Amino acid sequence: MRLLILPGDGIGPEITRPVAPLVELVNNRFGTKVRIETHPVGLAAFDVHGTTLPDPTFIACREADGVVLGPLSTSEYRDLGAGGVNASARLRLDLDLYANIRPCRGLGPASPPNMDLVIVRENTEGFYAVRTMYAGSGEFAPDAGTAFALRKITQAASRRIALRAFDLASRRRGKVTAVHKANVLALTDGVFLAACREVRQQFPDVSYEEELVDASAAHLVKQPSDYDVLVTTNLFGDILSNEAAQIAGSLGLAGSLNHGESHGVAQAAHGSAPDIAGRDIANPVSMLASVGLLLDWMSGRAGDAGLADAARELDEAIRQEIGAGGLPADMGGRCGTREIQDRILSRIGGRRTDRSQEGG
Ligand code: NAD
Repeated sequence: MRLLILPGDGIGPEITRPVAPLVELVNNRFGTKVRIETHPVGLAAFDVHGTTLPDPTFIACREADGVVLGPLSTSEYRDLGAGGVNASARLRLDLDLYANIRPCRGLGPASPPNMDLVIVRENTEGFYAVRTMYAGSGEFAPDAGTAFALRKITQAASRRIALRAFDLASRRRGKVTAVHKANVLALTDGVFLAACREVRQQFPDVSYEEELVDASAAHLVKQPSDYDVLVTTNLFGDILSNEAAQIAGSLGLAGSLNHGESHGVAQAAHGSAPDIAGRDIANPVSMLASVGLLLDWMSGRAGDAGLADAARELDEAIRQEIGAGGLPADMGGRCGTREIQDRILSRIGGRRTDRSQEGG
């Protein structure tokens, strides 16, 4: 199987660094046959190829079994003209990565007890300007002081994301919460809720509730353990998942998988964090957790149980390492990026290294 690494911008190269050694460990330990390739993306690609997403990188992504995409400094791309392509958006649209899966578990010492939820976010339409139109942009300005943004919600996209959420809940604690704003967006969120209610009929054992997004924002803070699977539209899912990650302990814990029927892309939920890039203080858990989600997804597609075993082991290694107090700066600790990566990998390798001999 081919797994691509696209390091990305800012902290991207730091947090994607352990992916190749991790895959080597997984191949040795679980008998999997995953081959790694690294391809350029982002500002480093622009410097050499004049575009942040060179054609060979996109083609390789289309042909790969899985992609690990580092975060991108997309707000800097506007100054690059036609060469500033948002690879994250392009892959989501062109590879039809309709589902964005963002689990949040209380891992840190200050995390709320029993928080264990997954946000299932629709990924291909909603309020995102390039995702709403076949041609042109969903955001436009008729004069200098007026601007519009169009929100696109379709029955087909709502149905398939609802199906994904109910299926996931049926294998977890059996509860789906549909998050919406139908009191003011009656037509668009009406379409979304109608699809959720229709899909619900196929899952009689899964309980179902609906909640306004503003209420969810407060409920998440007050009692996150009430939730199992939340399903929602694109922008609400983006915002609520960052909120949930911070409640769970830090945005730096936020693993995320984007997938469709035939492609999967692991991406941390956060951005490129330029304020901390190159200082060995980024929390590497988000990226490793994303890789775990991707390995599990690849296992389902390829029927390779070794990949699912590896994903479980990685998840357990992360839980143990954070539980043991190996905390990065964003969670109030002093462990560096590389140190935490090495410790998690050494747990996977089955040879817990002696901390006194570690270089930091
Ligand atoms: P950000 O998510 O990069 O950072 C927000 C805050 O969280 C910062 O203080 C940062 O230091 C911290 N943070 C993020 N990840 C962390 C980690 N792993 N460990 C420790 N701290 C972490 O958001 P931003 O600063 O608003 O955006 C920076 C750039 O990222 C912008 O160019 C933006 O457009 C881009 N962005 C990209 C994506 C993506 O690639 N999918 C998503 C969001 C933002």
